[in-house]
Amino acid sequence: MYTFRDFQKDFPNDKACLDWLMKSRFPDGVYCKVCKKTTKHHFVEARKSYSCQACGHHIHPTTDTIFEKSSTPLTSWFYAIYLLTQSETPISAKQLERELGVTYKTAWRMSSMIRNRLNDKNVDIFELASKNTPNASKRINDSETKSWIKTP
Ligand SMILES: [Zn+2]
Repeated sequence: MYTFRDFQKDFPNDKACLDWLMKSRFPDGVYCKVCKKTTKHHFVEARKSYSCQACGHHIHPTTDTIFEKSSTPLTSWFYAIYLLTQSETPISAKQLERELGVTYKTAWRMSSMIRNRLNDKNVDIFELASKNTPNASKRINDSETKSWIKTP
C-alpha cells in the first residue's frame, strides 16, 4: 500500500518529480547526443532541466511526456495521478478541480490524459517510485512504465 504520507515524502516538490522522471526514463544513465556517450548530468534549477557535465547540453525530462508544455506544476500532475490510481472510489474531474485548485477544464484534461494512459495497463507508478519497494530499481526499468508517461 502506497500511502499519501509516502507520496508526500517521495514527491515534496517539482525537483523530486523531475528526478523521478529522469530515473524512470533513463535508468541506465543519460546519453548525451553531443558527446555521443552516457555522461553525468546536473540539475539546472532555473531551466528545470539537466545539463551534461562535459558539454553543458540540456535535457528536459518532460519532453515527449504528458507533462510537456503544461503550465500545471509537476507536483499537481503527480498528485492527480496519485488520486486517480490510489483512490478506492473513482475520482471525478470535479473532485480533481477542488483537490488541485485548478480550473475544471484543466482538471478534466489532466484526468482524461492520465486515464487514457492507464487503460488496461494497471501501471502503478507510485509502487515503482517508492524507495521502499525492494524491486523498485528493477521494475522502474520496465518499458511499460516509460511508455506510460510518453505521448503517443
Ligand atoms: Zn555532453
